[in-house]
Amino acid sequence: MDLQDAPTEEISDGFLTLHQVRFFVKREDLIHPFIKGNKWHKLKYNLKQAQNKGSTKLLTFGGAFSNHIYATASAGKIFGFETIGIIRGEETLPLNPILSHATNCGMKLHYLDRTTYRQKAEQAFISSLKEKFGDFYLIPEGGTNEFAIRGTSEILQNITTPYDYVGCACGTGGTFAGLIVSENPQLANTQFIGFSVLKGDFLTAEIEKLIATEQANLPTRKWYINNEYHFGGYAKITPELNDFVRDFNAKYPIPIEPIYTGKLFYGVFDLIKKKYFPPNSSILLIHSGGVYSY
Ligand SMILES: *Cc1c(COP(=O)(O)O)cnc(C)c1O
Repeated sequence: MDLQDAPTEEISDGFLTLHQVRFFVKREDLIHPFIKGNKWHKLKYNLKQAQNKGSTKLLTFGGAFSNHIYATASAGKIFGFETIGIIRGEETLPLNPILSHATNCGMKLHYLDRTTYRQKAEQAFISSLKEKFGDFYLIPEGGTNEFAIRGTSEILQNITTPYDYVGCACGTGGTFAGLIVSENPQLANTQFIGFSVLKGDFLTAEIEKLIATEQANLPTRKWYINNEYHFGGYAKITPELNDFVRDFNAKYPIPIEPIYTGKLFYGVFDLIKKKYFPPNSSILLIHSGGVYSY
Protein backbone atom coordinates (compact mmCIF):
# COMPACT_ATOMS: atom_id res chain seq x y z
CA MET A 1 0.00 0.00 0.00
CA ASP A 2 2.80 2.42 -0.79
CA LEU A 3 3.00 4.85 -3.65
CA GLN A 4 6.07 6.52 -5.09
CA ASP A 5 7.51 9.66 -3.51
CA ALA A 6 6.34 12.79 -5.33
CA PRO A 7 8.98 14.67 -7.35
CA THR A 8 10.03 18.21 -6.42
CA GLU A 9 10.22 20.66 -9.32
CA GLU A 10 11.79 24.10 -9.44
CA ILE A 11 10.13 26.93 -11.30
CA SER A 12 12.31 29.79 -12.45
CA ASP A 13 11.39 32.88 -14.41
CA GLY A 14 12.03 36.62 -14.53
CA PHE A 15 9.63 37.44 -11.70
CA LEU A 16 11.22 35.00 -9.27
CA THR A 17 14.76 36.01 -10.30
CA LEU A 18 13.87 39.67 -9.87
CA HIS A 19 12.71 39.02 -6.32
CA GLN A 20 15.66 36.71 -5.62
CA VAL A 21 13.70 33.72 -4.41
CA ARG A 22 13.98 30.07 -5.39
CA PHE A 23 10.61 28.44 -5.84
CA PHE A 24 9.95 24.70 -5.62
CA VAL A 25 6.80 22.61 -5.84
CA LYS A 26 6.38 19.14 -4.37
CA ARG A 27 4.07 17.43 -6.84
CA GLU A 28 1.80 15.33 -4.62
CA ASP A 29 -0.73 15.74 -7.44
CA LEU A 30 1.32 13.25 -9.46
CA ILE A 31 1.44 10.32 -7.03
CA HIS A 32 -1.59 8.49 -8.41
CA PRO A 33 -4.16 9.23 -11.13
CA PHE A 34 -7.14 8.69 -8.80
CA ILE A 35 -6.00 8.83 -5.17
CA LYS A 36 -3.85 11.84 -5.64
CA GLY A 37 -2.47 14.61 -3.57
CA ASN A 38 -2.82 14.88 0.14
CA LYS A 39 -5.88 12.60 0.15
CA TRP A 40 -3.75 9.51 -0.43
CA HIS A 41 -1.51 10.35 2.53
CA LYS A 42 -4.58 10.94 4.69
CA LEU A 43 -6.17 7.63 3.70
CA LYS A 44 -3.13 5.36 3.87
CA TYR A 45 -3.06 4.57 7.62
CA ASN A 46 -6.84 4.70 7.84
CA LEU A 47 -7.01 1.89 5.30
CA LYS A 48 -4.39 -0.06 7.24
CA GLN A 49 -6.32 0.49 10.44
CA ALA A 50 -9.54 -0.68 8.76
CA GLN A 51 -7.74 -3.83 7.58
CA ASN A 52 -6.31 -4.44 11.07
CA LYS A 53 -9.80 -4.22 12.49
CA GLY A 54 -11.05 -6.68 9.89
CA SER A 55 -13.36 -4.09 8.42
CA THR A 56 -14.29 -4.36 4.74
CA LYS A 57 -16.55 -1.34 4.56
CA LEU A 58 -15.61 2.35 4.72
CA LEU A 59 -18.07 5.12 5.44
CA THR A 60 -17.24 8.78 5.11
CA PHE A 61 -18.78 12.24 4.69
CA GLY A 62 -18.40 15.07 2.22
CA GLY A 63 -19.96 17.74 0.04
CA ALA A 64 -20.95 17.05 -3.56
CA PHE A 65 -17.60 18.37 -4.81
CA SER A 66 -15.42 16.71 -2.19
CA ASN A 67 -11.98 15.53 -3.31
CA HIS A 68 -12.00 13.32 -0.23
CA ILE A 69 -15.13 11.47 -1.44
CA TYR A 70 -13.45 11.02 -4.82
CA ALA A 71 -10.25 9.65 -3.27
CA THR A 72 -12.04 7.35 -0.79
CA ALA A 73 -14.17 5.85 -3.56
CA SER A 74 -11.03 5.30 -5.69
CA ALA A 75 -9.11 3.75 -2.82
CA GLY A 76 -12.03 1.48 -1.96
CA LYS A 77 -12.12 0.13 -5.47
CA ILE A 78 -8.34 -0.33 -5.69
CA PHE A 79 -7.85 -1.89 -2.25
CA GLY A 80 -11.07 -3.89 -2.10
CA PHE A 81 -13.28 -2.05 0.38
CA GLU A 82 -16.98 -1.40 0.03
CA THR A 83 -17.53 2.35 0.33
CA ILE A 84 -20.45 4.47 1.47
CA GLY A 85 -20.43 8.22 0.91
CA ILE A 86 -22.74 10.37 3.02
CA ILE A 87 -23.26 13.47 0.90
CA ARG A 88 -24.35 16.86 2.25
CA GLY A 89 -27.47 18.23 0.53
CA GLU A 90 -29.88 16.91 -2.07
CA GLU A 91 -29.11 14.68 -5.01
CA THR A 92 -28.61 16.64 -8.23
CA LEU A 93 -28.87 14.78 -11.53
CA PRO A 94 -26.97 14.22 -13.67
CA LEU A 95 -24.26 13.52 -11.09
CA ASN A 96 -21.29 15.89 -11.22
CA PRO A 97 -17.94 14.38 -12.32
CA ILE A 98 -16.79 13.74 -8.72
CA LEU A 99 -19.90 11.84 -7.66
CA SER A 100 -20.18 10.04 -10.96
CA HIS A 101 -16.57 8.84 -10.57
CA ALA A 102 -17.39 7.76 -7.00
CA THR A 103 -20.43 5.80 -8.19
CA ASN A 104 -18.39 4.17 -10.95
CA CYS A 105 -15.94 3.03 -8.29
CA GLY A 106 -18.82 1.30 -6.52
CA MET A 107 -19.40 3.86 -3.78
CA LYS A 108 -22.97 3.93 -2.49
CA LEU A 109 -24.16 7.51 -2.08
CA HIS A 110 -26.56 8.53 0.63
CA TYR A 111 -27.81 12.13 0.79
CA LEU A 112 -28.55 14.04 3.98
CA ASP A 113 -30.15 17.45 4.41
CA ARG A 114 -27.78 20.03 5.85
CA THR A 115 -29.30 19.98 9.34
CA THR A 116 -29.05 16.22 9.78
CA TYR A 117 -25.60 16.26 8.21
CA ARG A 118 -24.33 18.48 11.03
CA GLN A 119 -24.61 15.52 13.42
CA LYS A 120 -21.87 13.74 11.48
CA ALA A 121 -19.52 13.47 14.45
CA GLU A 122 -22.14 12.56 17.08
CA GLN A 123 -22.03 9.08 18.56
CA ALA A 124 -25.82 8.49 18.53
CA PHE A 125 -26.01 9.50 14.91
CA ILE A 126 -23.12 7.23 13.93
CA SER A 127 -24.83 4.35 15.75
CA SER A 128 -27.97 4.98 13.71
CA LEU A 129 -25.85 4.80 10.54
CA LYS A 130 -24.49 1.43 11.71
CA GLU A 131 -28.04 0.15 12.07
CA LYS A 132 -28.73 1.25 8.55
CA PHE A 133 -25.53 0.21 6.76
CA GLY A 134 -24.07 -2.50 9.01
CA ASP A 135 -20.68 -2.24 10.67
CA PHE A 136 -18.15 0.05 8.98
CA TYR A 137 -14.84 1.82 9.50
CA LEU A 138 -15.55 5.52 9.88
CA ILE A 139 -13.39 8.14 8.20
CA PRO A 140 -14.43 11.67 9.24
CA GLU A 141 -15.33 14.44 6.80
CA GLY A 142 -12.24 15.63 4.93
CA GLY A 143 -10.43 12.52 6.15
CA THR A 144 -8.66 14.23 9.06
CA ASN A 145 -7.90 12.17 12.18
CA GLU A 146 -4.79 10.84 13.93
CA PHE A 147 -4.14 8.24 11.20
CA ALA A 148 -4.37 10.94 8.55
CA ILE A 149 -1.73 12.98 10.33
CA ARG A 150 0.59 9.99 10.60
CA GLY A 151 0.27 9.77 6.81
CA THR A 152 0.71 13.46 6.01
CA SER A 153 3.76 13.58 8.30
CA GLU A 154 5.46 11.41 5.64
CA ILE A 155 5.05 13.95 2.81
CA LEU A 156 8.35 15.67 3.67
CA GLN A 157 10.23 12.65 5.00
CA ASN A 158 12.63 12.38 2.05
CA ILE A 159 13.36 16.08 1.60
CA THR A 160 17.12 16.66 1.62
CA THR A 161 17.13 20.46 1.29
CA PRO A 162 16.70 22.78 4.30
CA TYR A 163 14.05 25.00 2.71
CA ASP A 164 13.52 28.39 4.36
CA TYR A 165 9.74 28.25 3.85
CA VAL A 166 7.19 25.52 3.29
CA GLY A 167 3.67 26.53 2.22
CA CYS A 168 0.49 24.45 2.00
CA ALA A 169 -3.25 25.05 1.43
CA CYS A 170 -5.43 24.29 4.49
CA GLY A 171 -9.01 23.02 4.63
CA THR A 172 -9.35 20.99 7.83
CA GLY A 173 -5.62 21.54 8.49
CA GLY A 174 -4.85 17.80 8.61
CA THR A 175 -2.26 18.00 5.87
CA PHE A 176 -0.50 21.02 7.37
CA ALA A 177 -0.54 19.43 10.84
CA GLY A 178 1.33 16.44 9.38
CA LEU A 179 3.93 18.66 7.71
CA ILE A 180 4.78 20.43 10.94
CA VAL A 181 5.24 17.21 12.89
CA SER A 182 7.53 15.78 10.20
CA GLU A 183 10.58 14.20 11.80
CA ASN A 184 12.94 15.32 9.03
CA PRO A 185 15.87 17.23 10.66
CA GLN A 186 16.38 19.27 7.44
CA LEU A 187 13.30 21.26 8.45
CA ALA A 188 14.54 22.40 11.86
CA ASN A 189 14.76 26.08 10.83
CA THR A 190 12.00 26.09 8.22
CA GLN A 191 9.11 28.52 8.60
CA PHE A 192 5.86 26.68 7.81
CA ILE A 193 2.93 28.73 6.52
CA GLY A 194 -0.56 27.28 6.14
CA PHE A 195 -2.83 29.21 3.79
CA SER A 196 -6.44 28.87 4.90
CA VAL A 197 -9.00 28.47 2.10
CA LEU A 198 -11.81 29.04 4.61
CA LYS A 199 -13.02 32.22 6.24
CA GLY A 200 -12.58 32.53 10.00
CA ASP A 201 -9.58 32.08 12.25
CA PHE A 202 -10.31 28.75 13.94
CA LEU A 203 -7.55 26.82 12.15
CA THR A 204 -4.71 27.66 14.54
CA ALA A 205 -6.61 26.19 17.50
CA GLU A 206 -7.71 23.23 15.37
CA ILE A 207 -4.13 22.42 14.37
CA GLU A 208 -2.86 22.77 17.93
CA LYS A 209 -5.47 20.17 18.90
CA LEU A 210 -4.49 17.88 16.02
CA ILE A 211 -0.80 17.86 16.90
CA ALA A 212 -1.25 17.78 20.69
CA THR A 213 -0.96 14.00 20.95
CA GLU A 214 2.05 13.82 18.60
CA GLN A 215 3.88 16.83 19.88
CA ALA A 216 5.44 15.44 23.04
CA ASN A 217 8.02 13.33 21.18
CA LEU A 218 8.39 15.46 18.07
CA PRO A 219 10.51 18.47 17.14
CA THR A 220 9.03 21.94 17.61
CA ARG A 221 8.49 23.74 14.33
CA LYS A 222 7.97 27.36 13.42
CA TRP A 223 4.48 27.60 11.95
CA TYR A 224 1.48 29.88 11.57
CA ILE A 225 -1.73 30.19 9.56
CA ASN A 226 -2.18 32.96 7.02
CA ASN A 227 -5.86 33.98 6.81
CA GLU A 228 -5.47 36.65 4.12
CA TYR A 229 -6.12 34.65 0.96
CA HIS A 230 -9.44 32.81 1.36
CA PHE A 231 -11.18 35.08 -1.20
CA GLY A 232 -14.44 35.11 0.76
CA GLY A 233 -14.49 31.50 1.99
CA TYR A 234 -14.50 27.88 0.94
CA ALA A 235 -14.95 27.45 -2.85
CA LYS A 236 -15.52 31.20 -3.23
CA ILE A 237 -13.79 32.44 -6.36
CA THR A 238 -13.25 36.07 -7.42
CA PRO A 239 -12.43 37.22 -10.99
CA GLU A 240 -8.97 38.18 -9.72
CA LEU A 241 -8.31 34.66 -8.42
CA ASN A 242 -9.70 33.15 -11.60
CA ASP A 243 -7.39 35.31 -13.75
CA PHE A 244 -4.40 34.33 -11.62
CA VAL A 245 -5.16 30.60 -11.97
CA ARG A 246 -5.71 30.92 -15.72
CA ASP A 247 -2.48 32.89 -16.24
CA PHE A 248 -0.51 30.52 -14.02
CA ASN A 249 -1.77 27.48 -15.92
CA ALA A 250 -0.88 29.12 -19.25
CA LYS A 251 2.60 30.07 -18.09
CA TYR A 252 3.81 27.13 -15.97
CA PRO A 253 3.64 23.36 -16.55
CA ILE A 254 2.03 22.79 -13.15
CA PRO A 255 -1.81 22.73 -13.15
CA ILE A 256 -3.57 24.50 -10.28
CA GLU A 257 -7.29 25.07 -9.49
CA PRO A 258 -9.04 27.92 -7.68
CA ILE A 259 -10.33 26.10 -4.56
CA TYR A 260 -7.09 25.06 -2.86
CA THR A 261 -3.80 25.34 -4.75
CA GLY A 262 -4.89 28.53 -6.58
CA LYS A 263 -5.33 30.35 -3.26
CA LEU A 264 -1.98 29.02 -1.99
CA PHE A 265 -0.03 30.03 -5.10
CA TYR A 266 -1.80 33.38 -5.31
CA GLY A 267 -0.93 34.08 -1.68
CA VAL A 268 2.73 33.15 -2.06
CA PHE A 269 3.17 35.13 -5.29
CA ASP A 270 1.52 38.11 -3.62
CA LEU A 271 3.88 37.81 -0.62
CA ILE A 272 6.85 37.59 -3.01
CA LYS A 273 5.67 40.82 -4.67
CA LYS A 274 5.37 42.46 -1.26
CA LYS A 275 8.95 41.38 -0.43
CA TYR A 276 7.86 39.26 2.52
CA PHE A 277 10.58 36.70 1.73
CA PRO A 278 14.17 37.96 2.26
CA PRO A 279 16.53 37.76 -0.76
CA ASN A 280 17.88 34.24 -1.47
CA SER A 281 14.98 32.52 0.32
CA SER A 282 14.02 29.06 -0.86
CA ILE A 283 10.29 28.32 -0.84
CA LEU A 284 8.70 24.89 -1.18
CA LEU A 285 4.97 24.62 -1.87
CA ILE A 286 3.07 21.38 -1.41
CA HIS A 287 0.88 20.72 -4.44
CA SER A 288 -1.96 18.94 -2.66
CA GLY A 289 -3.83 17.82 -5.79
CA GLY A 290 -7.35 18.87 -6.65
CA VAL A 291 -6.99 18.85 -10.42
CA TYR A 292 -8.80 15.76 -11.63
CA SER A 293 -9.11 13.79 -14.79
CA TYR A 294 -12.44 12.01 -14.76
C1 LIG B 1 -8.68 18.36 0.71
C2 LIG B 1 -7.68 19.26 0.06
C3 LIG B 1 -6.91 20.18 0.81
C4 LIG B 1 -7.13 20.41 2.29
O1 LIG B 1 -6.53 19.46 3.07
P1 LIG B 1 -6.72 19.48 4.66
O2 LIG B 1 -5.91 18.36 5.13
O3 LIG B 1 -8.19 19.27 4.91
O4 LIG B 1 -6.29 20.80 5.17
C5 LIG B 1 -5.94 20.91 0.15
N1 LIG B 1 -5.75 20.78 -1.18
C6 LIG B 1 -6.47 19.94 -1.93
C7 LIG B 1 -6.21 19.88 -3.38
C8 LIG B 1 -7.47 19.15 -1.34
O5 LIG B 1 -8.20 18.32 -2.10
